[in-house]
Amino acid sequence: MRLTFIGSGSAFATMPGNFHSNMLFEAPDPASGETRRLLFDCGSDVRWGLAAMGLDYSAIDAVYISHLHNDHIGGLEWLGFKRYFLEQGARIPMFVPEPLRRPLWENCLKGGMELLDFGPGDLSNFFDVTEVATDDGFTWMGTRFSLVPLVHLRAGGYLMWSYGVFLEGAAGGVLLTSDCRFERDRLDPWYERAALILQDCETLPRPTGAHAHYRDLLTLPTGLRGRMWLYHINCQDRPDAVADGFLGYVAPGQSFDL
Ligand SMILES: [Zn+2]
Repeated sequence: MRLTFIGSGSAFATMPGNFHSNMLFEAPDPASGETRRLLFDCGSDVRWGLAAMGLDYSAIDAVYISHLHNDHIGGLEWLGFKRYFLEQGARIPMFVPEPLRRPLWENCLKGGMELLDFGPGDLSNFFDVTEVATDDGFTWMGTRFSLVPLVHLRAGGYLMWSYGVFLEGAAGGVLLTSDCRFERDRLDPWYERAALILQDCETLPRPTGAHAHYRDLLTLPTGLRGRMWLYHINCQDRPDAVADGFLGYVAPGQSFDL
């Protein structure tokens, strides 16, 4: 299993050659041996990000959605329409955390995608949807992806969740956080199990409260920082992460053999 960052930028970032933090998991199909690609989030930069890797929509064999911000779902209309109209309605497998299934369509995609050539459609006209329970996971190409529910926004008594994943790689556990606040009670059990941590990190001077801030992550023990790559990065004000004991900031196109 290989994980490649199409981009490692934040929703706001406009760094040349970098894109939103969407990733590709690649693995051989056990049946045919051909390389299959699972797109982890499908944001509004994704068509440009894939193009920079020499890939197009047709390279995507499945998609996972972590949460409903536009830098993570804003490319689904592009992906769904291209497959629907250019490949005669071929549906892409989609793994979506169960609480997101309804709002993904009703609140995000329906306005632009509902009316099709036969009349009103829905999400299942574009995607072969598997709803994943938040205390469970899904299996793709023989690998188990456990969902990691984390708090992304906390305000006025309301929570917005984002669902990272944890998988067992050849060299140990891998935690991909997705967008998340620095809430140790939820993160620590996964940190403890992970040999490799791919961590959402914000470096803005004024924290948004939606992401783990670099200053928060500096409070972690040295041993944890030494297993941690930082991503979802901002354009400016990035401290020297390696000097501070992290593995570094993920670069666009950077791959990890899991
Ligand atoms: Zn987000």
